[in-house]
Amino acid sequence: MNITLRNLLASTLSTGGPGPAMTVRTAKHGERVGILGYGAMRLPTVDGGNGAGRAGKPVEGASQADIDQAAVNEHVDYALAHGVNYFDTSPAYCMGKSERVLGAALSRHPRDSYFIATKMSNFSPEQYSFEASKALFEKSLEYLRTDYIDFYLLHAVGMGGFEAFSKRYVENGIIPWLLEQKAKGRIRNLGWSFHGDPKAIEWLLQKHDSGEYVWDFAQIQMNYVDWRHAQENNKRNIDAERLYEELEKRQIPAVIMEPLLGGRLARYNDALMGELARLDPEATQASWAFRFCGTYPNVLTILSGMTYKENLVDNIATFSPLKPLTSVELAVLERAALAYIATGVIPCNNCNYCMPCPYGLDIPGIFSFINRVKSAGMKDPGEILREYEKAIPDPRRRADRCIGCGLCATHCPVPIRIPRELDSVAAYMEGLKK
Ligand code: SF4
Ligand code: SF4
Repeated sequence: MNITLRNLLASTLSTGGPGPAMTVRTAKHGERVGILGYGAMRLPTVDGGNGAGRAGKPVEGASQADIDQAAVNEHVDYALAHGVNYFDTSPAYCMGKSERVLGAALSRHPRDSYFIATKMSNFSPEQYSFEASKALFEKSLEYLRTDYIDFYLLHAVGMGGFEAFSKRYVENGIIPWLLEQKAKGRIRNLGWSFHGDPKAIEWLLQKHDSGEYVWDFAQIQMNYVDWRHAQENNKRNIDAERLYEELEKRQIPAVIMEPLLGGRLARYNDALMGELARLDPEATQASWAFRFCGTYPNVLTILSGMTYKENLVDNIATFSPLKPLTSVELAVLERAALAYIATGVIPCNNCNYCMPCPYGLDIPGIFSFINRVKSAGMKDPGEILREYEKAIPDPRRRADRCIGCGLCATHCPVPIRIPRELDSVAAYMEGLKK
């Protein structure tokens, strides 16, 4: 792909308040969208934490205190003043509170100054019927204080396999109903977010190609590691380059999730990032990862969950305006991706969907710990054992307590074979004691 030529053609018009303006991209129906999108999955809580967790499913370790409406209002005001105008939520986020809080914050501004993205979620089979699905959409309108949704998504298609996708979105006949809502102007753009089974995406694209269902956008996981190495990390994944190209050739704009790979590309091993540091000593690790995604012109917006205002301020600076990567920088990032893959990290993005484990294990905590060991190149057995005790202080929450029931694995969007990975971690830790 001739990236340099495409970059010249990419939209770099600007929007926003004081300071250098943010790069914008154009959506299917001419909407001008800031290239940084506000992800409302982990909003700040009144006790200083984040309110992560799916509706009805608290996340251990995340605060379940009320969302701090004043802080969210302040974020939204700052974001809008600096060119961020795409706000992504779902009925599932923040224990089901995200849409309401975001609706309260956004509705203080003119409706045509922002775009709302929300989803027909698939978190509970009780919502799978035609009537329940319609009710979910109507509730989103109510909570978001609007009479139309700018970007509406079938949530996490492919998670749990093709059969689950078919039950959730096909057999109940909800897609034709959503298309009717689009014809009425209650949905402005209809798309989907993809996690998992390639058969689901093949089905969706085949419908698009036949003209039966035309998709206006799609949300995919993309970052410089998953670009060419998603499959190396996990055989059941699809490389982001292939996903991106499938969308680009159909002119379906791509919304990007996981640009930082669950935050791991923001706190990478300095030794592996040395080459980039020499290219630009001032640049943060996160800024390289964000710029990678923005370099591709069919990317509409890049979502980032910015619980704290400093994340918002930093990320706005990266994109105001976006500096597309040069071919030299892209090559350096590819080498960094290879080095990252060689460490054998587990592709956990810390989403917490697998929690709580009925047997009390701290699954994301264990994976985050072992990934830190691998990417930091820790070798000393004593140090690793001590760090494990610090990371997971309660022995009942450690990997060796997994009974292999597999309940967690059905919820993992990556997907990771969680019991098998935990078994390997347990064996590794046991080996260090000898
Ligand atoms: S497989 Fe292990 S980690 Fe997963 S739910 Fe069962 S006991 Fe918990
Ligand atoms: S194991 Fe899967 S579901 Fe659990 S936190 Fe990691 S990515 Fe999310």
